[in-house]
Amino acid sequence: MRQQDTLTTAAGAPVADDQNSQTAGPRGPVLIQDVHLLEKLAHFNRERIPERVVHAKGAGAYGTFRVTRAMGDVTKASFLSEVGKETEVFLRFSTVAGERGAADTDRDPRGFAVKFYTEEGNWDMTGNNTPVFFIRDPLKFPDFIHSQKRHPATNVKDPEMIWDFWSLSPEALHQITILFSDRGTPDGYRFMNGYSSHALSFVNEAGERRYVKFHFKSLQGIRNLSAEEAQELAGSDPDYATRDLYDAIERGESPRWRVCVQLMTEAEAEASELNPFDVTRVWPHADYPLQEIGVMTLDRNPENYFAEVEQSAFSPGNVVPGIGFSPDRMLQGRLFAYGDAHRYRLGANYEHLPVNAPRAATARTYQRDGAMQFTPNGGGGVNYGPNSKDGPIQSLAAAEPPLRLQGDAGQYDHRADADDFEQAGNLYRLLSVEERERLATNIAGSLRGASRPIQERQLEHFRRADPEYGEAVAKKLGW
Ligand code: NDP
Repeated sequence: MRQQDTLTTAAGAPVADDQNSQTAGPRGPVLIQDVHLLEKLAHFNRERIPERVVHAKGAGAYGTFRVTRAMGDVTKASFLSEVGKETEVFLRFSTVAGERGAADTDRDPRGFAVKFYTEEGNWDMTGNNTPVFFIRDPLKFPDFIHSQKRHPATNVKDPEMIWDFWSLSPEALHQITILFSDRGTPDGYRFMNGYSSHALSFVNEAGERRYVKFHFKSLQGIRNLSAEEAQELAGSDPDYATRDLYDAIERGESPRWRVCVQLMTEAEAEASELNPFDVTRVWPHADYPLQEIGVMTLDRNPENYFAEVEQSAFSPGNVVPGIGFSPDRMLQGRLFAYGDAHRYRLGANYEHLPVNAPRAATARTYQRDGAMQFTPNGGGGVNYGPNSKDGPIQSLAAAEPPLRLQGDAGQYDHRADADDFEQAGNLYRLLSVEERERLATNIAGSLRGASRPIQERQLEHFRRADPEYGEAVAKKLGW
């Protein structure tokens, strides 16, 4: 018979009895000196950490990114420098609006967050399965999410709130069109694309900046659930996508994505009529063609969901030399919000958790202490800079060229000169007759729950994207 380990307390002492609490006699009450019982109950009470306000339900896996085109001409990021070079990644997929127990098949964008453990530190690409977003100013993010979540009185999701906000935010139309298309209910996480959505930047050794958008194209192809299938699965198998990803990887069917970029020079960005930093707009493929740079494969499941997926923490602020930000307002807001969310959920030392810690480069900072400091904490080494004690020093290798800005500081109406309708219309027009029919049905199924003035306001947006689009939804609503 196999020798089993002795059960211990968290402090490592053997436990004499894990089946019976200490009691005063065989029928008497439990004794407060039963510290094993007290510790077990107390720890259980503390098992949950705050769930993410958005992207609460997720699934993750490890894998590899392999370069197929050396990118040294446009970025000094060393993990992109040589064909064949491999970098470990961790990817967390998620839904957005639902809570931790919500159904995987809900109509919702899907989070697509990739951590690249490069030798120069971690780069996090905090993307979605959609190339655009609902809003373009981070000031509107809490309002947007409130409108999509539960009503303050009924605690039920409310189409009146959802469409009230959207109908007063015309910039949402493009993403609404994607959300209610077939792609709003992907068949699990393997059969969908991922997009950085934001413009980021590449900087090369010569100090030249280019703006870049990332596209991860599923090599499994695109596969969606019908609205009926998605709804049925939400009841019969709410963890459908989580299970599908885990099981596929266990079977050795490692899902893969072709990783591509669109590039734009600073001069092109300045001359562009379309604001390239508006996350509600795509960069047309005809003007900014996709260029393949690598392939990403997911081939290893986490061993412990809580430790590796629930505690995984991504931030668009995690960049490496050669990759930088852009003036995209939403990206700028996320640079604050992501790290802030992690410090709240996981504590100041969240980057030390194994799933979050850089692999090759050991982080060398002058940050010390804080709750749950479980690393050597810098030992007896110097904890301030500048110093004359051979402590780590800054490196010009990470420096970026200056970014030219224009205009006076102020609050500029982001809706004043934006065309919120053209690209939504372009998308509508590229859909097949059957896809348009399903789009109108899906929208009407939700918009029907809003009051008539809100329906009318929203219909006007569809009409402006394409008169046929507006007509199709109006017909489904029975107008
Ligand atoms: P293209 O015709 O070159 O691109 C159209 C793209 O639309 C395709 O490459 C595909 O992107 C995506 N697409 C195809 N079918 C669907 C669908 N049923 N639902 C959602 N997306 C679909 O034209 P443009 O680049 O000028 O873009 C036209 C419209 O396509 C845009 O307004 C936008 O709505 C949408 N789109 C554009 C993307 C871009 O980065 N330019 C990316 C995704 C969508 P993919 O290959 O990534 O699946």
